[in-house]
Amino acid sequence: MVAVRGLQKWFGTNHVLRDVDLTVATGEVVVVIGPSGSGKSTLCRCLNRLEVAGEGSIEIDGRPLPAEGRDLARLRADVGMVFQSFNLFGHRTVLENITLGPTRVRRIPRARAQAEARVLLDRVGIADKADAYPAQLSGGQQQRAAIARALAMRPKVMLFDEPTSALDPEMVNEVLDVMVSLAADGMTMIVVTHEMGFARRAADRVVFMDDGRIVESAGPEEFFAAPRSERARDFLSKIL
Ligand code: ATP
Ligand code: MG
Repeated sequence: MVAVRGLQKWFGTNHVLRDVDLTVATGEVVVVIGPSGSGKSTLCRCLNRLEVAGEGSIEIDGRPLPAEGRDLARLRADVGMVFQSFNLFGHRTVLENITLGPTRVRRIPRARAQAEARVLLDRVGIADKADAYPAQLSGGQQQRAAIARALAMRPKVMLFDEPTSALDPEMVNEVLDVMVSLAADGMTMIVVTHEMGFARRAADRVVFMDDGRIVESAGPEEFFAAPRSERARDFLSKIL
């Protein structure tokens, strides 16, 4: 599904991804953790070409990432992304936010896109917010709308980059619950998060990054019970 091989990324002289190999199977949920600056966001951004990798290869479903044009728009649809900051279009209603991509990129007729959007809003628990504007929603509701918007594109894989870290604590679980249910439904997911409860509940694998490298990759039980590297032990002792 997702195959990253020998990925290298520099920002100027800063070598931020160092020979990263990562394969994620269809339906697999991989949680990525690691210290600030270790390259987690950059890795995510390379996967949908918000950043261009320096060396190495990335394939989604056996096909290399397209460089530009319509193929790139389709890639962005295939690789749904939810960020820390809620990036909904402020001047559009929730329903419009969700139907924009499907009608423009996927060429789905408007009425059908709207019907599907309402199903997705129901699924993320904000069916009553279809006609609201983002500013009228709580952070947790906005983030669930952002998830619905990504899902509306029928992505092959969903990337989450710290989707709950900007939320007030009482809203964290409503977003994590949606993600857990997505995982249970078999969505292929790469999730950067410090929510170790989520990792325990939903991850098939935990990947620990440090200084641009994948240092460790293991099932959550194994990883939390006995991280092999000193760096991972040190990191866990700080966040748990
Ligand atoms: P955090 O946990 O703080 O989100 P992270 O693991 O997501 O950290 P990245 O954001 O991927 O880390 O950053 C990795 C390195 O790349 C850091 O040294 C950062 O300063 C650098 N970096 C990230 N984005 C850019 C950019 N657009 N231009 C220059 N340097 C960047
Ligand atoms: Mg980051």
